[in-house]
Amino acid sequence: MDFRLTFLGTGAGYPTPARTVTALAVERGRDLFLLDCGEGALRAMQAAGVGYGRLRAVFFSHFHADHCLGLPGLLQTLQLMGRQRRLDVYGPPGTRDFLHRAVNLAPFAPGFCTIAHELEPGSEVALGGLTVSCAWMDHTAPVLGYRLQEPDRPGPLDAARAAALGVPEGPAMGRRKAGEAVTTPDGRTVGPEELVGPPRRGRSAVFSSDTRPCADLTELARGAGLLVHDSTFTEAHRDRATETGHSTAAQAAVTAREAGVAALSLWHFSQRYRGPETHLAEARALFTPTEAAGDGMTRDVPSPAPELS
Ligand SMILES: [Zn+2]
Ligand SMILES: [Zn+2]
Repeated sequence: MDFRLTFLGTGAGYPTPARTVTALAVERGRDLFLLDCGEGALRAMQAAGVGYGRLRAVFFSHFHADHCLGLPGLLQTLQLMGRQRRLDVYGPPGTRDFLHRAVNLAPFAPGFCTIAHELEPGSEVALGGLTVSCAWMDHTAPVLGYRLQEPDRPGPLDAARAAALGVPEGPAMGRRKAGEAVTTPDGRTVGPEELVGPPRRGRSAVFSSDTRPCADLTELARGAGLLVHDSTFTEAHRDRATETGHSTAAQAAVTAREAGVAALSLWHFSQRYRGPETHLAEARALFTPTEAAGDGMTRDVPSPAPELS
């Protein structure tokens, strides 16, 4: 099943022609989720061919303007399109109030149902086969980071080993795959562990929004396939990052390494930089599988890195 991200906005603070502000589309199967919804998110979805009629839920990290001002316009457009399906909006405390204001901002309030859900660490949301969990980040306002996790799947069947042990083809194989023991024609019991490899870990993607490096984010990202991390500054402006509640690209790389993720995407670049080349070089020196996200860029969520033994 597809599990794909499209970076809609990768800039910090305010939109420019090169980068609009924070928003990320997550498509898995037929579901679409948004992580933050900065100004320009709707237009970016149109440009990238992301079918926003399928939008199921929006997750907000916090309500600084560069993360949320796209919602009122998106709601109006969904209304014009005749949406009837409800829209769930998740975020930290304050989400209910923000959604109420967004819904009532313009004269034509959406006719479809919108439901606000205020989360805190420990909350888990089951949506479209994914489990969404969250943790507090370390910023100048309360910010939630999110992990979207697929369930683990049963390990692959070793057909050759099954044949060697005399397990017949057909329904008995199906039961064994479901984790049950089966009895061979000569009366031996064969347990599932003898024939199935270890479970295949589900894919997962973790999104820090605005944050300084913090232990809760490292834990949230533990073993994930992909970490999308605040990369507002380069090392030349590390003090500024600390002051304003953000990270440098190198700090993002250290978190990725410590969390044991398979890959790192940098985003939320300060508009003061012409391009992300320095961010990328500083991060790759510490964590090789790093990319600098750009507006419109798409990537599949990779499988998790093998567990360290
Ligand atoms: Zn921001
Ligand atoms: Zn912020």
